[in-house]
Amino acid sequence: MDKDEHIYQDEIIKISEKVINDGYVCNRCLGRQFVNLWGNIGNEERGRRIKNILRDYYKIDHISNVCWICGGFLDDLDEWVRRCIDISKDYEYDTFLVGTHISGLLHETEEYLWEKTGARYTESIKAEINREIGKRIEKVTGKNVDFVKPDILFLIDIPLDKVTIKVKPVYIYGRYKKYVRDIPQTKWPCRACGGVGCYVCNYTGKKYLESVEELIGKHALKSFLGEFTKFHGAGREDIDVRMLGNGRPFVLEIINPKKRFLDLTQIENDINKYEKDKIEVSNIRFADKEEISYLKSLKVDKIYKCDVTFDRILDKKDIIKAIGSMNGVILKQRTPTRVLHRRKDLIRERRVNWIKLVDYTGDSAVLEISCEGGTYVKELITGDYGRTIPNLSDLLDVTATVKTLDVISFK
Ligand SMILES: [Zn+2]
Ligand SMILES: [Zn+2]
Repeated sequence: MDKDEHIYQDEIIKISEKVINDGYVCNRCLGRQFVNLWGNIGNEERGRRIKNILRDYYKIDHISNVCWICGGFLDDLDEWVRRCIDISKDYEYDTFLVGTHISGLLHETEEYLWEKTGARYTESIKAEINREIGKRIEKVTGKNVDFVKPDILFLIDIPLDKVTIKVKPVYIYGRYKKYVRDIPQTKWPCRACGGVGCYVCNYTGKKYLESVEELIGKHALKSFLGEFTKFHGAGREDIDVRMLGNGRPFVLEIINPKKRFLDLTQIENDINKYEKDKIEVSNIRFADKEEISYLKSLKVDKIYKCDVTFDRILDKKDIIKAIGSMNGVILKQRTPTRVLHRRKDLIRERRVNWIKLVDYTGDSAVLEISCEGGTYVKELITGDYGRTIPNLSDLLDVTATVKTLDVISFK
């Protein structure tokens, strides 16, 4: 043994003395005070070797007693492993992580110990429990620990004697088209009862019986055996506006899914078979949580098709002149009166790229409008009592009304 190691051994004995002064300690609790000693041999083996050194040094033995630090807990980890595996038996997963909540008393014991020993080489008992249980679950199940995005998080609560799990949601990306009006994008609870069910909503709890979210979600929930869904659209169209063209991107989040590794083609086919009169989905694939904020931040141009009626007969060339003057214009849109109850009253600036006259009958016209994401298109036609400037009604000096509106392209 060279000189440095000898000094180190003195240090080991000095610190160990302080640990065992208060009574018996298990191998793990002793080994844990010297985590980097002798390389990657584990705290159990490390503690055993240290005890051998102590035996030689003092000619004493510490046997058959309860560890004053962990109370014997670390000798009893297999029961927790069994409980983790049992609680997750109905769930599909590849990766997991273990987290532990320890009692205040154990915290204090550890701090008391560190104060005595100086804690120069130690790691926390939590870290040891998480790692040891993780290693054993890996061994039994063949799954892997993932520190970043585990499919399942096991939460071991020692004081409450409880194991719970947190299951990572499944995220599905796709594009949807909506072929009918009067279906909202997301679930819409009854305002009178807040979703509980009352006479206003005929005890359904809903203001609208169906939504794009539910039409897609019910098939996903059935396949993934999830609890409920959250729907994240790249913006939303008004309830009476159809979504056509290439469809609007969305991410569907399935909460607490029991299944995780499914063929999405089947789900896409089911939706398009059973809901084909109302919606259609495409480009379905698995997604990540991060894509939601990306979708929300998207400000893409859209093209609308708009049926407009006028309260008097107009000249075609006047319409062409008026819409021509709006090409490239920056609209100033004060929050529309129809959404004032839920949105802040402020002025937004949005660009109109171009407007085309597609059809014309005298007191009605069909327009195609290309504009920046977030434009209030109905108000661009009606003017909303002068809150949107410029607007088609003012330019033509008529009352223009939007009969129907469809999104026909979402870049
Ligand atoms: Zn112990
Ligand atoms: Zn109700």
